[in-house]
Amino acid sequence: MRMNSHIQEKEQFKKLFQKERIDRFEDRFKILDVFLKSDTHLTSDELFEIFKKEGLGFSRDFVTETLELMRFYGFAQANRFQNGSPRYEPLILDRRHDHMVCAKCRKIIEFHSKALEDLQMEIAAAHGFHMLQHKMDIYGICSQCLKERSDLIPLARARAGETATIEKFLGGRRFEARMLSMGIRRGETVRIITNRGEGQLVAAVENRRFVIGSKMAFKILARPEAGPGKQRGSA
Ligand SMILES: [Zn+2]
Ligand SMILES: [Zn+2]
Repeated sequence: MRMNSHIQEKEQFKKLFQKERIDRFEDRFKILDVFLKSDTHLTSDELFEIFKKEGLGFSRDFVTETLELMRFYGFAQANRFQNGSPRYEPLILDRRHDHMVCAKCRKIIEFHSKALEDLQMEIAAAHGFHMLQHKMDIYGICSQCLKERSDLIPLARARAGETATIEKFLGGRRFEARMLSMGIRRGETVRIITNRGEGQLVAAVENRRFVIGSKMAFKILARPEAGPGKQRGSA
């Protein structure tokens, strides 16, 4: 969300940081300037690399410290997505937003919904709860990744929270029989609970949980539940 030249932010930063007698003001101001122009939702390490490219050879510690100061004084905000490192973005006071995070390409999409905020207030109020802040992160698969994804995927490639129908086994009859003995058969709908990508996968069929090794999970082909605008069975 970078639609203005951040004149307000820069002026207030100058005023506040000088009034608070924060050291190395000029250096920190350079960091702010590049930060406001950069992509949003970057980690301290990613920003460090950007500053370096811009000729700002500050230490990692100085960069992190400055980002944290900017956060403290309300010029930056940081979010952790799926327990990752904090990702910084400018804090624009009158522009709140929430995030959608793609589990495949890690793209972060911002959105704002007045209806959603009103609903949250309403729900909080119904519990006699006074809402101060809220955080809404939606995890899923972005439209681009959905387009690139083929209809059948190995179960090993399905994401946590995803639902898919088992269509095919690649390991021959014996493998299929083995799966059957575990209660995993064609036409069954599975929901992925945990998938670390390389190792074991935990999934549920109805209310049964089962664990599949990654080798096996690559031999099970499944059709993910249709995403938006993508009807089940369409090409
Ligand atoms: Zn994506
Ligand atoms: Zn954001």
